[in-house]
Amino acid sequence: MTDLLSRTHAIALDAADLLRPLRGDFLIPKHKHNEQVYFCGNSLGLQPRGARSHVLQVLEKWSHEAVEGHFTGEAQWMTYHEQVREPLARVVGAQPAEVVAMNSLTANLHLMMVSFYRPTGERPAILMEAGAFPSDRYAIESQIRFHGFDPATDLIEVEPDEAEGTFSMGAIERAIAMHGSRVALVLWPGIQYRTGQAFDLAEIARLGHAAGATVGFDLAHAAGNVPLSLHDSQVDFAVWCHYKYMNAGPGAVAGCFVHERHAHSDRPRFAGWWGHEKDTRFQMGPQFRPTPGADGWQLSNPPILALAPLLASLELFDKAGGMPALRAKSEKLTGFLEALIRARVSDTLEIITPADPSRRGSQLSLRVTGGRERGRELFEYLASIGTIGDWREPDVIRISPAPMYNRFMDVYRFVEEVESWRGV
Ligand SMILES: *Cc1c(COP(=O)(O)O)cnc(C)c1O
Repeated sequence: MTDLLSRTHAIALDAADLLRPLRGDFLIPKHKHNEQVYFCGNSLGLQPRGARSHVLQVLEKWSHEAVEGHFTGEAQWMTYHEQVREPLARVVGAQPAEVVAMNSLTANLHLMMVSFYRPTGERPAILMEAGAFPSDRYAIESQIRFHGFDPATDLIEVEPDEAEGTFSMGAIERAIAMHGSRVALVLWPGIQYRTGQAFDLAEIARLGHAAGATVGFDLAHAAGNVPLSLHDSQVDFAVWCHYKYMNAGPGAVAGCFVHERHAHSDRPRFAGWWGHEKDTRFQMGPQFRPTPGADGWQLSNPPILALAPLLASLELFDKAGGMPALRAKSEKLTGFLEALIRARVSDTLEIITPADPSRRGSQLSLRVTGGRERGRELFEYLASIGTIGDWREPDVIRISPAPMYNRFMDVYRFVEEVESWRGV
């Protein structure tokens, strides 16, 4: 019998991995003469090889056709963002008309709150997780103030109730039950960025709606990481970025979902000409008539050069066989990392991400025994030998093996390196 924690087994897992060829579709950064062991796809995904040619095509088209480029060929800029729609809808489990690639994550969060956070005197509050990514908290707090309410009373932050700083479903349920009648909007992450905890989004949407609130998700760490069923979850809206697991490049154009039942919404919105009905947009009339669906929240004609790498990236999601195939490998890869850590370096690394695979994505958040300084030492040692994770204050190393391009041997090497740093 092979030892399931051995190097031989890691090599065998790689050999049997049907997604292995996808690694060749990415540019892997070098450390000296070797490829880095890159576990930072939760922060900035690697560059798909196809990104360069997609960007060059736009530059070429611009140089030859200039303004005509808006209207010629399949990749015409007038409808360029529509090429993204169907593959993106597949990744997040939406209907095509429910998704749009536009702006950046935080900008989309604001635009969505303009429509879906409509506070009243009786119901002024937003409920979110304590310890949220700062941008979300800033956006939410500023929206509450913008409407003339007070974050001190109207921003409800649910505290984690589990030892590692994670949330039981009960804690979320109790918070919604306790504050529900005052809550206008529940805004929850798909995956919490610091702990890596994944949530039951359909259940959170159900609880929020039952309390009379609208519900939105921030899927920055979930999109392209775990399978999502946004349409079926009934959530009102969702936002996410495309530079993490979606591999579309630094500051990539972000994603936005608006549920079909709001396709013809007359809620207030901040409008721009690109959200106007397509057929009459160029009549340039003074009256805004939104195009149905998520497209109706667009403001501007999209940055074509910035959309090009997203197209390249989405091709790889389809090539992989979609999220179920990626998730199957991801569970094995992260499970292998977890098993190796527990067996070989449990005296050095404490895993704060939930052990139940249904409560996490690919990331494991690790706390180094001995405190923050020891943690920094290990983190810097790893970086110095080309093993790239990331650091989140005060004391967490996040390691995220991405099924698109990470190998079981990467995971094995990581654990070996931690062992050699600690001194066996
Ligand atoms: C990465 C991330 C952001 C970043 O926001 P940008 O608008 O893309 O700069 C915001 N919120 C969460 C939860 C994130 O993980």
